[in-house]
Amino acid sequence: MSDNHNPGFNTNAVHAGYHAHSGPVNPPVEESSTYAFENCDDGAERFASRDKKGIYSRLSSPTVNALEKKIAKLEGGFGGIATASGMAAVNAVYYHFLDKDSHVIATASMYGPSRTILENPSFYKKWGVQATLMDTSHADDVEKAVQPNTRLIYIETPANPTLAITDISKISAIARKQGIPLVVDNTFCSPYLQNPLDLGADFVLHSMTKSIGGHANAVGGIIIAKTEEDYNVLRNIIVNIGGVLSPHDAALFFNGVKTLGIRMEKMQESAKRMADFLANHEKIEWVIYPGHENHPMHHLVGEKKQMRGPGALISFGVRGGLAGAKALLDNVKLNTLAVSLGGVESLMESPALMTHAGVPKSEREKAGIKDELARCSVGIEDFEDLKADIEQALEKV
Ligand SMILES: *Cc1c(COP(=O)(O)O)cnc(C)c1O
Repeated sequence: MSDNHNPGFNTNAVHAGYHAHSGPVNPPVEESSTYAFENCDDGAERFASRDKKGIYSRLSSPTVNALEKKIAKLEGGFGGIATASGMAAVNAVYYHFLDKDSHVIATASMYGPSRTILENPSFYKKWGVQATLMDTSHADDVEKAVQPNTRLIYIETPANPTLAITDISKISAIARKQGIPLVVDNTFCSPYLQNPLDLGADFVLHSMTKSIGGHANAVGGIIIAKTEEDYNVLRNIIVNIGGVLSPHDAALFFNGVKTLGIRMEKMQESAKRMADFLANHEKIEWVIYPGHENHPMHHLVGEKKQMRGPGALISFGVRGGLAGAKALLDNVKLNTLAVSLGGVESLMESPALMTHAGVPKSEREKAGIKDELARCSVGIEDFEDLKADIEQALEKV
């Protein structure tokens, strides 16, 4: 390959971060919390230069570093910092930007705990942080919500579980004009479908627990910074707060992400067919799927657009309200009743009863999270089997 050839997504997913020419093809998992120095000068030198040969593995571990480099490459950022969970990544961002008495604008229907920690008095509120939780898909409203003390715009797109899509370029233009940093939770799309840094975001974060890992076998998160300066600041925060990823879990994610592209292709293909099937079923009242033309932000979905594909998540309303949704979810057999998403196994859940039960009902309804909503994360099983399972469960609704 010539030096100016840019490898494609799948090539980077397999090879970026660690590429062996001899020896093991995967980065070794170093089970060592601390590293021996040759002598005092060597120790002093490693501390001074943050040498990658190792000091102490909360600061740096080769397995974790390889994963961080790989994901940073897939997102097009300067560098990544892996965290012990997606929530550790969300908290590191909030902690960094939200000073005493500051203000944050965030997507109302985002991941439940990302919202709850802005509203619960035990967290940021105790330092006077105010949050405006809103439908960030209306960019004009976001601009109007900016206050003199706004220190962060935090968006999740598509949002969870309404699949509302926020125009990242539009929000980034607003953020830039006002000098406010923009952070995007890109968990739902994964870097395969969407790269917020290319659209003007300053940081992108993921729960790697979901599509990046893809096999429901480990919990982890990552923050990717666009610039070296931001990267250094965030790394310093995370290693000192202490929510770092373990080398064992890093090894699981390092292997999981290699197949992200092919998994997403398969999941998305089945999700498109499932969304069509549900939209035509008499017991389903409505379907929200970014691939459908009736999605309000469908124009942002497609090749070379914000979302290069519609993804593998579908939200839909089951006839009969909460009881209808429960009847469906209690009767599926192959589709697993479980929270989480983006993995090889198809999962279904009720946000009103599970992921968003912590959000008061009136607030849920305002955010579009209705009682009859069931969320489906389509996996890589054979589509006909998934469809047959949902068909038989819908007979019981
Ligand atoms: C799961 C999830 C998180 C939190 O990640 P954990 O790994 O569970 O801590 C944050 N944001 C989104 C969109 C998620 O789906």
